[in-house]
Order: sequence, then C-alpha cells, then structure tokens
Amino acid sequence: MTREIGANAPSGDRPSDPADDVAEVVSQLIRFDTTNTGDLATTKGEAECAHWIAEQLAEVGYETEYVESGAPGRGNVFARLPGADPSRGALMIHGHLDVVPAEPADWSVHPFAGAIEDGYVWGRGAVDMKDMVGMTLVLARHFRRAGIVPPRDLVFAFLADEEHGGAYGAQWLVNNRPDLFEGVTEAIGEVGGFSLTVPRRDGGERRLYLVETAEKGIQWMRLTARGRAGHGSMVHDQNAVVALAEAVARLGRHQFPLVVTDTVAEFLAAVSDETGLTFDIESPDLDGVIDKLGPMARMLKAVLHDTVNPTMLKAGYKANVVPATAEAVLDCRVLPGRLAAFEAEVDALLGPDVTREWIRNLTPYETSFDGELVDAMNAAVLSVDPDGRTVPYMLSGGTDAKSFMRLGIRCFGFSPLRLPPDLDFSSLFHGVDERVPIDALRFGTQVLAHFLTHC
Ligand SMILES: [Zn+2]
Repeated sequence: MTREIGANAPSGDRPSDPADDVAEVVSQLIRFDTTNTGDLATTKGEAECAHWIAEQLAEVGYETEYVESGAPGRGNVFARLPGADPSRGALMIHGHLDVVPAEPADWSVHPFAGAIEDGYVWGRGAVDMKDMVGMTLVLARHFRRAGIVPPRDLVFAFLADEEHGGAYGAQWLVNNRPDLFEGVTEAIGEVGGFSLTVPRRDGGERRLYLVETAEKGIQWMRLTARGRAGHGSMVHDQNAVVALAEAVARLGRHQFPLVVTDTVAEFLAAVSDETGLTFDIESPDLDGVIDKLGPMARMLKAVLHDTVNPTMLKAGYKANVVPATAEAVLDCRVLPGRLAAFEAEVDALLGPDVTREWIRNLTPYETSFDGELVDAMNAAVLSVDPDGRTVPYMLSGGTDAKSFMRLGIRCFGFSPLRLPPDLDFSSLFHGVDERVPIDALRFGTQVLAHFLTHC
C-alpha cells in the first residue's frame, strides 16, 4: 500500500526521472477511496490519503503540516520548498484529494483499483484531480532529492472537500488558517492546461493548451412558492405547486443574454486565428460554429451566457392534500460582473407568489492572460510541445480558486496534459470510466518541471 515513490530508480544516488514514477503514483492515489458524498457522515478517505502524502514528503526532508479543516477526517497537507529569492511572492500548487462518488457496477474496471491498462490510469479521480496531485507529488519529491532550488518559494497544498464547495477544505482554510497562505501571490491548480486539438486553416492540426483564467460563479438558488393549503378535490386558485412549476419552467427555458467577457473574446480570437472559423457574436448560429470544436463545445457554450438548471423539487405529502408551500433548487452559473443584472432578470420571471434565496453564492473571477507567470506557462508548454499554443479560457464550473482569490491570490487552472485529439476529455470529469493517458501524465510532469523551475 505504501510502496515508495521512485522504487524504479536506477541504482546509485541519481534521482529517477519523475515522469517515470507519475503513473504509479496516480494509481496509488486513486486506491485511496476519498469519496465526497457531501455528507460528513459518509465522506471518507481524505485523512488517510493526506497522511500518505505527508509521509512521502517527509521522507525526502519536507516539513509538512497536516490540518483538519472543520471536521474530523477532513485532511489537508501543506509543505513549502524555499526558493532562491525570498523577496518574491510564493507560488502555490494546489490539488484536491476528494473525488465524487462512483458506482462500480457502471464501470469497466473498479473505480478505486487504480488499474493501469491500455496506456491509461483508470479510476475515479484520474482527471479530477489525482492526476495533478500525482504530478505535483513526484515533482516535489524530485526537487528535494535533486537539490533543485526553484526561483521562488513553492507552497504545495493538498486539500479536502473541493467537490462539495470547500466548506471543509479551501473555504475553511482561508477563513480559519490564512497563515498557511502567507506570502502566496499566485497559484495554479485545476481545471486547465489540457490540450484541445483543432483543425488548422491551412491543413493539419494545432494543439491549443487551455489555461483557465476565469470561472463562472456558482449560485445555487432556492425558490419557495406559497399558496393556500386545502383539499385536493376542490377548486384552488392559489396552488403553490402550480406557481412553483410555472416559475421553474420559465427560468429553465429562459435564454440569458450573450455576454462575451475578455477571456472568452481572447479564446475565440485565438481559435479563429488557428482554424479560420468566424465567431460572429451577432450571428444566430454562433452556437453552431462553436459545435465544430467537438465535445468541448458543451462547456464553451456555457460561458457565453448565464445559465439556470433546475435540479431539485420538493412539495406535498399526500395525493389529496394541496400543500401550502413548494420548493425548488436551481443551479445558476453567472458570468463575471453579471450578478445584479442576473438577479433582476430572474425576479421578472418568478411570478407573484414565489420568492428566492441564495443557498450558495460563490462569486466568479477573471484574471488577465499576461505577465511573467503566463510567459513561464507558455515557455514550459513549448519546451515539450513546440507546436502547441496556450490560450486563456473560462471554466463553466468552479474550483478552490474561488476561495483563494479572496486572499488576493491570482489563480490559474494549469494542470498540463497533452491529450489524444479524439478523447472526449470533458465527459471524463465525474464520468464513468474516468481515466488519464499515461503519456499525458508524463507530458504534464515534464511541463510542470520546466514551469516550476522557471516561475
Ligand atoms: Zn476537481
């Protein structure tokens, strides 16, 4: 269970190539079942996984700190590698240890067996995000063993509870242990750095490496309709279920306006430059053009508008009783700078007997795609894939970056992977048969090695 990383090192003192170790380490991480159900009673495994990482770091000389974030078993580990210039702000590399549940009966392999087959490491967490955790861990160990001093301090953070919003992970740590982030000015984590292969206008293909520079907000809304309770056999003009259903249907069908943020504009311009596709934001067929980019289009279209997806309904307790109230939960994802306009638009659609409240409200963020750190990402990608091109993009979902930005930390999604052109990468997140190509892990480790020694 606790096979030492680097066991395949050549004899002698020379450290092994970390890219040779990464698949085995990712497999080992997957074998810790760190399922986050969203319920404290049934969430498990983070502490064991965090302790194992701490041991692996301590073994090569790191001082580590194990922190439980708000509840027993919610394990996080921090370690710092001093850099050459202590006057510069530190760079944090963060990864979450928890994963979403997986139903073994649906899978080709057991989701927590860490199978290494057909050129892939298989299992829950393979791309979200034990891949990055594994790459980070092998590099942290390699740097220490080889005596490599990065240009500035590196802070390694392995975190709990990302998959349920970080209340027992990043959010708690930011609120209760801001000292752990002392001096950190920038950070990298999920979800970005992976390749998207697009056809070039002059023939051939181009690998774009999508660096995440922006995230939509995560706003979960509860709607409550209030009417008059009564007997199901009579005429009711104030039925809460009807009022709620109408509001849910209006919101679920509503098309929020097209808003092209700076990040999305820059992304579309780069894609246009490579492919020759024209993204005319006035055109009614904008979605159709984006569809040409393949499966990733599902997410790319979601960053052009605010979105609302009704996800939960609750009303009534007996077939012949009209209930006094009815409730719904809607998963809203709002673009940067849009919250007030979004709320006004929602209020106009709710109807008279329906009220709304936010049950989660994590604000969006957006940073620019420039500066020395971006230059270092670009150089690192090009050092391993000279035909690649880095481009900024906005994630439709959310990550722990939302918590770190509250400390003024500039966050990027940069977990590099060179993917096969036909792999439907976005469907692997939280999907069945989640897996990551071994070649992609080797690539990512090489890119990160370059990046972290030139950052
Ligand atoms: Zn994740």
